[in-house]
Amino acid sequence: MALIVQKYGGTSVGTVERIQAVARRVCQRAREGDSLVVVVSAMGKTTDELTRLAQEISLQPSRREMDMLLSTGEQVSIALLSMALQELGQPAISLTGAQVGIVTEAEHSRARILEIKPDRLLQHLTEGKVVVVAGFQGISSLEHMEITTLGRGGSDTSAVALAVALEASCCEIYTDVPGILTADPRLVPEAQLLTAITCDEMLELASLGASVLHPRSVEIARNFGMPLAVRSSWTEAPGTQVLSPPPRPRSRVGLEITKAVDAIEVDAAQGKVALLRIPDRPGIAATLFREIAGQGVDVDLIIQSMHDGASNDIAFTTLKADLPKAQAVAEAIAPVLRAPQGAAGDVEIFVEPRMAKIAIAGAGMIGRPGIAAKMFRTLAEAGINIEMISTSEVKVSCVIEEAEANRAVAALSQTFGVPLNPNPAPPPEPNLPPARGAALDQHQAQIAIRNVPDRPGMAAQIFTALAERNISVDMIVQSQRCRIVEGVPRRDIAFMTAQGDAEAAKAVLEKLAPTLGMGEVWINADIAKVSIVGAGMQGQPGVAARLFSALAEAGINIEMIATSEIKVSCVVPQAQGVEALRIIHRAFNLERLS
Ligand code: ASP
Ligand code: MG
Repeated sequence: MALIVQKYGGTSVGTVERIQAVARRVCQRAREGDSLVVVVSAMGKTTDELTRLAQEISLQPSRREMDMLLSTGEQVSIALLSMALQELGQPAISLTGAQVGIVTEAEHSRARILEIKPDRLLQHLTEGKVVVVAGFQGISSLEHMEITTLGRGGSDTSAVALAVALEASCCEIYTDVPGILTADPRLVPEAQLLTAITCDEMLELASLGASVLHPRSVEIARNFGMPLAVRSSWTEAPGTQVLSPPPRPRSRVGLEITKAVDAIEVDAAQGKVALLRIPDRPGIAATLFREIAGQGVDVDLIIQSMHDGASNDIAFTTLKADLPKAQAVAEAIAPVLRAPQGAAGDVEIFVEPRMAKIAIAGAGMIGRPGIAAKMFRTLAEAGINIEMISTSEVKVSCVIEEAEANRAVAALSQTFGVPLNPNPAPPPEPNLPPARGAALDQHQAQIAIRNVPDRPGMAAQIFTALAERNISVDMIVQSQRCRIVEGVPRRDIAFMTAQGDAEAAKAVLEKLAPTLGMGEVWINADIAKVSIVGAGMQGQPGVAARLFSALAEAGINIEMIATSEIKVSCVVPQAQGVEALRIIHRAFNLERLS
């Protein structure tokens, strides 16, 4: 007899008939002898409807009252499911977050789970009942009993956290899709169901908008090694297993990472190659990285920033030992890359052999702007210059001089209150596919700031100002090229933000421009971001080249590139976004993966 936590999403309990169907499923499983805790979301679009109601009364309702309101949605569905179970003769009881003792931070509308005191729940289980729990909600403390919610989509997180607190044998997330797919099937008809995916891959995909799982739920599963599956509510198919590495021992107090940053990672012995003034047309990145892969050199971070319309800069890092080969390739193909009329002058190559990559990682940074800024500020205050920045939704990486690595780690550990991750992710298993999923984001805009003075602290000030306005950014790219304007060396900085935030971001930056002595601010909303994600791409040369080549063959120009260890993202013209997604899906044979 196993203890299992199941979670049913809003669509799965969207009507009375569906609630009854879920009840039959749960009942059957209970009769087979398992103990069940069932977490449910609010019925159908209830949470949206409640939000709309609130907005008819107040444009900025108090977050406390919003939590009071939204938490009622789940209270309806738990009661109905419990009744449906009782109708089938199955003893059942519904419990709210407070009754289950789900204690969270006192942060309304985005609370993280601190602890679960499941005594009462366990008592009901021993009495043979199915316990139906309201997802998405908790209370601020056992004394104050303020109702909190975990943020939209948070009932996945409730379910996984409960599974960990109860030491359940697994957590099953039931939804209206068959599991996790290689891409959004509405955009890519040949998308395939994955039988398995690692938590790290899932985290990147989830934060790219594959909205099947709340990213925080994935992080909890990974941290505690909780077996997690995503399955269809309507079939018996096994769905997708979300795989965790063997967990590090952790206390169950402070269950969710209330810290935005979960780990600090450092890779020393890196080298950097930068190519300046390469032409801005399809095929350039493809040619360069195909040649480099041909030498068996694995590149790690790649960034490409755009410039004045005519030319781009590309910079990448490799292991120091591979640097001479990478440099030789870059030098050999530089003449080929020259712009037709030499518009922006000749390609220039810079090689820096003594670099380190330092990163902060954690799903806690999603939706909490200011984390990247805090990292930049910490490094600036330590007088450490940032050579390259590359951010994904769950990680911020900075390339700095190798000699500064230890100081950087010490400063960052102090700021974020986490030690250096002593055993970073184990090397990926051999034979993992280089890519496991592809994603498209069409709701972002690109913002570029021209002529930012090149001194420590600029990135810190820029991203702090944005964070203060609650604007989340992603894919920050700093140009490699330095130009001297008014006697000051300057670089451009570009980043992505939600389209809805772009105008506000521009206003913030324009206000800041005179103080920081920086130039114009541009918005380009006519873009889309496509990404591939796969743990197997680590240590496999040629993955980025394959992606760039596929886009080049279709004549799609890449406007910006940013990579993390297990993800490559490219910014492409908006009109070609869907096409780009289909192309990269095919380029990695994802239609044959399952
Ligand atoms: N009902 C909440 C929402 O729609 C929580 C959830 O469904 O996960 O965001
Ligand atoms: Mg959901």
